[in-house]
Amino acid sequence: MAKKKATKKVAKKATKKATKKKATKKKAAKKKTAKKKTAKKKTAKKATKKKVAKKATKKKVAKKATKKKVAKKATKKKVAKKKTAKKATKKKTAKKKTAKKNITPQKTKNRVVKRKATTKKVAKKSTKKSTKKTAKKATKKTTPQLSFDPKAHSANLFDSLLELIRMTSAELPNDVQKVILEALEREEKNTSAEYAMNIIKANIELAMKKSQPLCQDTGTILFFVEHPAGFRQGDFTKVVHKAVIKATEIGYLRQNSVDSLTGENKCMNVGPGHPDIHFHEHDKDTVEIRLVLKGGGCENVGAQYALPHTELGAGRDLDGVRKVILDAVQKAQGKGCGPGVLGVTIGGDRGSGYVHSKEQLLRRLDDENTIEDLATLEKDIVSTANELGIGPMGFGGKTTLLGCKIGVLNRLPASYFVSISYMCWAYRRHGIVLKKDNSISKTLY
Ligand code: SF4
Repeated sequence: MAKKKATKKVAKKATKKATKKKATKKKAAKKKTAKKKTAKKKTAKKATKKKVAKKATKKKVAKKATKKKVAKKATKKKVAKKKTAKKATKKKTAKKKTAKKNITPQKTKNRVVKRKATTKKVAKKSTKKSTKKTAKKATKKTTPQLSFDPKAHSANLFDSLLELIRMTSAELPNDVQKVILEALEREEKNTSAEYAMNIIKANIELAMKKSQPLCQDTGTILFFVEHPAGFRQGDFTKVVHKAVIKATEIGYLRQNSVDSLTGENKCMNVGPGHPDIHFHEHDKDTVEIRLVLKGGGCENVGAQYALPHTELGAGRDLDGVRKVILDAVQKAQGKGCGPGVLGVTIGGDRGSGYVHSKEQLLRRLDDENTIEDLATLEKDIVSTANELGIGPMGFGGKTTLLGCKIGVLNRLPASYFVSISYMCWAYRRHGIVLKKDNSISKTLY
């Protein structure tokens, strides 16, 4: 029994081994078949690629061939066309020759006439075109009509300017006269101040009556001209010079302009910087001319301050501005023929500040500054100055200033200038508006 059992076990083991071997064989076989399949697939792929490549090359070749064929055909056609064109031209020339031979004299004449007619037509057209072009050029060259032309109506302009000079030299504007009479009323009776103001009043009346200069010094001639675009400043200046020379001959102006180096006086009031003309273009269709005759005595007491001013304790603010203006008034006492009017500019540079301060003198004395702080300062300066006791001509009294006008310009952060132009009681300022023919339309002030 024991032997039988042992044999059975051995048999079982043997069968197991056999089955294992079979299984491993099967696996190996499967692997081989898988490998074979993949190899087959690869080869198949390669083959397909080769086929595709072959097809592509075939197509390319075919395309090239077709292109060549098409190109050949095209060239053939071109050549054929050229040949036919040559033949046609040959035929035409032959026909012409034969036609020439067959043409009768009358026909040739007609043709000649026709040709002449056509050439005439062409000539006419060309002349028309050329005349049109020249006309256009001519119209382009001629400048557009100016609304104000100093040259076209120079005689009228001369008369207008001469009248403006006469008026300014002999007559104070109404707003100035009014303030002077108010100052006279203010002064105490039988004082030097009242005496000085009475002389000024008499002077004003006499000059107006006789149409003669208010003062022996007819001052620097300052023109301020506002004009529309296109205004010819050069032509205008020429007429101004003529009018100034004439006004000097008549006596509206003193022979007042001398060479700064030699002192020579050519007795014309015309030279470098004289008269001083400031042009400003504006949007209006008018020409407005303002004239200021500014005496030398009052010009001498003009002043310019750079703030901060440590001696006066004047900083870069309106209080500092106030301090330097009152300092200038103090320093002008007894000079400059007060009572005076101040034109002041805050800001700008040294040059623009002074010019702008003179432009403040173009304002009416009874106007109001549009900047509230400056309007307050203007009134404050006049009332404070009139309490200093300097008075007319420095004789003491209640009227040191007749007015103060303050303007403002932008400045550099590094600078803060206050420029002061002092105008004497002979505050000669007038203005005119021109008509289109340069005659006076109306007076300003
Ligand atoms: S400062 Fe005036 S008032 Fe005095 S002399 Fe000159 S122009 Fe005449």
